[in-house]
Amino acid sequence: MKSNLVTDTSFMKNKYDIPDHFSEDKLQELIERASYLSDEIKRVEYDNEDHTLVIHHHPQLSTKISESLAKLIHSIQRMKLIAPTVLESNVDSIPSKRVKQTEKAIHAELDVLDESKMQLLSKIDDLIKKIGASRQPITRNYPTFLSDHNLKKNKYHIHFPQNIVALYQMPHDYTLIESVRQKNNGDHILHEHMKSSGGILRPCICYHVYEELEHSSTDSAMYSSAGTCFRNEVPWKLDAFRKKEFNMREFVVVGSEEEVKRTRNEMIQEVWSLFNYLGLEGKIESATDPFFFSGDMNKITHQLMAEAKYELKYKRQNGSYSSIASFNFCGDHLCDAYDITHKESGQHLYSGCIAFGLNRWMSAIIDYYGEDPAAWPIVLQ
Ligand SMILES: [Zn+2]
Repeated sequence: MKSNLVTDTSFMKNKYDIPDHFSEDKLQELIERASYLSDEIKRVEYDNEDHTLVIHHHPQLSTKISESLAKLIHSIQRMKLIAPTVLESNVDSIPSKRVKQTEKAIHAELDVLDESKMQLLSKIDDLIKKIGASRQPITRNYPTFLSDHNLKKNKYHIHFPQNIVALYQMPHDYTLIESVRQKNNGDHILHEHMKSSGGILRPCICYHVYEELEHSSTDSAMYSSAGTCFRNEVPWKLDAFRKKEFNMREFVVVGSEEEVKRTRNEMIQEVWSLFNYLGLEGKIESATDPFFFSGDMNKITHQLMAEAKYELKYKRQNGSYSSIASFNFCGDHLCDAYDITHKESGQHLYSGCIAFGLNRWMSAIIDYYGEDPAAWPIVLQ
C-alpha cells in the first residue's frame, strides 16, 4: 500500500502498487475484479501517472483489502491471456446518427419502464424471437427460482458466487411469529428471523432447460425461453446497462458437436445482421466468463483458446462497450452434468446457448437514438 490520500468519516482513498510488467489486459482484469473484494469498496480507479490502483473503502478494511488484493494480483499474474478474436466490427465505420444525450439519460437507471419502453422491450424481443423461429424452438416459461438440486449440477455457486442473489422466507413457526409480532411496532423489517428458502434466484435461463432434459435422450433440440434474471452487481457500477434484475431471452441448443457449433455460428451472423439493421455501433469478439477464484483462472485461457464464448458488444455514447448478447459453446460438460444423451448412441450430447440481455438492447437503442420513439428505427416504433 502506498499512501492514504483522503480520510473522511465513512471512507478513505488508498493507493495500491501494481506490478510494473502488468499488460493492459491484465490491468483491466484487475480493475474489474478488485470491485468484488469487499462490499465496503465504493470505487476502484486506475491512476496511470504512478501506475497504482486507487480504491475507496472503509478505513478499517485496509489490511483485509491489502491481503485480498495481493492474492488477486498474484493469480492474475499467472493467467495466460490471449488477445480476443474479433469476428465482426463496424466501429467507426458507420455514419453516426447518435443524438446528444443529457447526463440524466445516459445514467438513467430505467428501473421503471413506462409505456414506450415496455413496447420497445417487447418489440426487441419479437425481433430476437424471429431469429430463432426458423429453427422451430420448443418454447417454455420457467420459474425464477433455481433449486439447490439444479445448482449442484451446474456449479454456478462455485464458479460465480459473487453474482448470487437468493431468497429468504419466514419460518412457519407460531411461537417465533407471535414473539416477533409482539416485539415489533411495524418499523422494523424482519430479516434476522427469516431463513434461506434454499436455491437462488436464477442468474440466467438456460439451467432450467438442462434441468427439464435431465436424464433424458434425444438427438437434437432447441429451446427458447425468456424472463427475469438476477445478479448481485456492485452497487456503484449499476447504470442503464448494468442491473441487478433484468430480462433475458435464451435459445438453448443440444445436439452433436457439429450441429451445436453450426447453429451458434449461423446465429452469430443473423444477430450481427439485426444489429446492423438497427444501425447500432459495435463488434463481436471472443470473450470469457467472470470466474471468481484463482483456481478458475486457467478456464479463462481455455475459453479464449477454444473460442467457447463470443459476445456482441455495443459501443456506448461514453465510449465504453457493453455486452448485449453472448454466443456460448458449452462442449459436452453440461449435458454430462445433467446426463443428457443421444437417443441411439447413448453418448452425452453437446450444447450451447445464445443469450440476449433484452434491457441492454433497449438501453442501446435509447443510448444511440435518444428517448423519443419517433427517432428509433421504424421496426421498433
Ligand atoms: Zn445460458
